[in-house]
Amino acid sequence: MSDLNYKSWNEECAVVGVYNIQDASNIAYYSLFAMQHRGQEASGISTSDNKKLFITKNKGLVTEVFNKEILCNLKGNNAIGHNRYATAGEDSSADAQPVFANYDLGQVAIVHNGNITNAKEIKDELIKEGAIFQSHMDTEVLIHLIAKSKQQTLTDRLKETIPKLKGAFCFIILSRTKMFVIRDRNAFRPLSLGEITNKDGTKGYIVASETCAFDLVGATHIRDVEAGEMLVFDKQKIQSHIIMQEDPYPCVFEYVYFARPDSKVFGRLVYDIRKSMGMELAKENPVDADIVIPVPDSGVAAALGYSKQSGIPFELGIIRNHYVGRTFIEPTQEIRELKVRLKLNPIKEIIKDKKIIVIDDSIVRGTTSKQIVKILRDCGAKEIHMKISSPPTISPCYYGVDTPTKSELISANMSNDEVCKYIGANSLSFLSLEGLKNSIGDGNYKFCQACFDGKYIV
Ligand code: AMP
Repeated sequence: MSDLNYKSWNEECAVVGVYNIQDASNIAYYSLFAMQHRGQEASGISTSDNKKLFITKNKGLVTEVFNKEILCNLKGNNAIGHNRYATAGEDSSADAQPVFANYDLGQVAIVHNGNITNAKEIKDELIKEGAIFQSHMDTEVLIHLIAKSKQQTLTDRLKETIPKLKGAFCFIILSRTKMFVIRDRNAFRPLSLGEITNKDGTKGYIVASETCAFDLVGATHIRDVEAGEMLVFDKQKIQSHIIMQEDPYPCVFEYVYFARPDSKVFGRLVYDIRKSMGMELAKENPVDADIVIPVPDSGVAAALGYSKQSGIPFELGIIRNHYVGRTFIEPTQEIRELKVRLKLNPIKEIIKDKKIIVIDDSIVRGTTSKQIVKILRDCGAKEIHMKISSPPTISPCYYGVDTPTKSELISANMSNDEVCKYIGANSLSFLSLEGLKNSIGDGNYKFCQACFDGKYIV
């Protein structure tokens, strides 16, 4: 394995690619809007009108970065786009994507989701040879490799260079006339292909991290991009090349937390899986209580499943203010704690004098659970049983999910009882690894769950 202390800055994120669709920038914009949950720090779109590339990117939410005029100036029927996930403490205006470059074959723009685990080794090698880097992004590594390759076409250069990269990556690359879509050999991060019929009857294509983007722009989901596959979109057609071959190990955390419940990820509806996780949790961890409440929004589907399985009524005991960013956005612990309070407000009338089961999807540092228990106690809850619809998070992710280092992961450093005491609940239980497997339950469970069992695929 490569140097695990190397922290790269291309994590989670959302990517979209649009090919041969009129007003491609608008389609990319709405797709990024649908996938805002995958990254709120920066957003960017690059388009091509078959003669040249256009690009706009900036820090901020999709609606802050783009307006009608900007989208009009992003000309052409092909587009790629990116939402960047917030990473603690970095002023990263240089790290917004797409990354744009001029090289011997012309112009190219690249977006990337994931984390290349050998990026540092390749980068060090390139720097020794005289290369200059302008950002922290792994994406620049790919640009240098493409520029150095002696192959005659970009297709061949990608076939030659991409297999040198290890880890989790989805790349979408736009040249003046073509679009290239690549998913890593283990298919860690999701990437789906859809189609749209244009007004003139021609077919247009869209590739996105999550299918919720297709719903918004009226595209039909055709299939997922395969592990190790490169799709080349050229002259209104798609060619598929398998450029790397290994077993797929998609990321189970997409089901637990990251993806939107209305997306189909790795061929399954996320909502259904989260509900099953809640049902499994109820089978494994029954407890006498008056109501089941979710931590919104992350615990809602699992809490419905828990309530269905246990027969204990579901209530929305905590209401979320949707106009506050996610709790991980601010780097310091004090601000993180304040953010939980800004975001979640309990309904006292529902909570008072009740024995409550609270469901959330995961415990990372323990900040959210501790605050939730405190606000429920302040409302007069009689008992608080915290139940988590995934196993304890004990290992950091090196394949694209922004988890803190092992020393900050509370369950990596404390026993279940100690965590329960720390958060102040009457009881605490997690879904078992077996329960997680049962909830996905297709008999052929093969996922990367390194965050839960510490077994890294790469
Ligand atoms: P913590 O408060 O540190 O224990 O984090 C747990 C909370 O953060 C839960 O409510 C999760 O829904 C949410 N969460 C889990 N993983 C992530 C992640 N990678 N990025 C942002 N939020 C997360």
